[in-house]
Amino acid sequence: MVHPVGSARLHCSDSRRRWIVEGNEPLCIATNAPHTRISGPDGAPVICALEVPGVIRRTFKGVFEFPAGAEYVLPVVSMDCETATGCVVGAELPVFAAPFHALAAQAVVSRSVICGTGSPRHAIADFCDTTHCQFLRSPAARASVIAQAVAATCGCVLADNGRVIPARYSAACGGWTQGGLENGYRYVPVRCEVCSEQRIAQRGHGWGLCQEGAMELARRGWGWRAILAKYYPNATPAPLTGAV
Ligand SMILES: [Zn+2]
Ligand SMILES: [Zn+2]
Repeated sequence: MVHPVGSARLHCSDSRRRWIVEGNEPLCIATNAPHTRISGPDGAPVICALEVPGVIRRTFKGVFEFPAGAEYVLPVVSMDCETATGCVVGAELPVFAAPFHALAAQAVVSRSVICGTGSPRHAIADFCDTTHCQFLRSPAARASVIAQAVAATCGCVLADNGRVIPARYSAACGGWTQGGLENGYRYVPVRCEVCSEQRIAQRGHGWGLCQEGAMELARRGWGWRAILAKYYPNATPAPLTGAV
């Protein structure tokens, strides 16, 4: 089910026709539907809620495609990098507990994953929205601290040798981050005093940014640039346009 949000008018089309969906009448996409496309006027992004009734409902902002020919409905949402970054940051850190500079560091890291991954990770999309790629939430509300963290770091990615690194990160490093070469970037083992002092066990793979560490360092007054320099000593925050 595709629901217009607020006063949005959904411009829908398939191989046979074009039509508008608005108000409280959702559009139901069946498994045997032809390839269906939904956008705002003139192909612009639009906000709508996708729902599997009784299972999940989530709001997205973008242009929506529902490819035909599958035994299931598989929505593909195209969105710009900054919108996607806000959606990922909202999913990655506990929004009400995470300080601004931890969210800003996460925004740079997630933007680097989005822009630095290179080849698509799925046949019909660059990413899926499960932990296989990057988990997504609904777009950040305009005045939210997430939106502010994304705006404050707009277009900024982690770069090494003129290349965006698809930066790895995990929930807790356990005291030392993992070292090694991956995707051309050398991860240096970094001592994380937060996990050491607070005896936080490793959660996740332990490469790159430690989210527990980043949140506590931000509470202690560290800025997002200092947090990134600590966990990615071989990378530099750079504007996306200059890095690639
Ligand atoms: Zn995936
Ligand atoms: Zn840590």
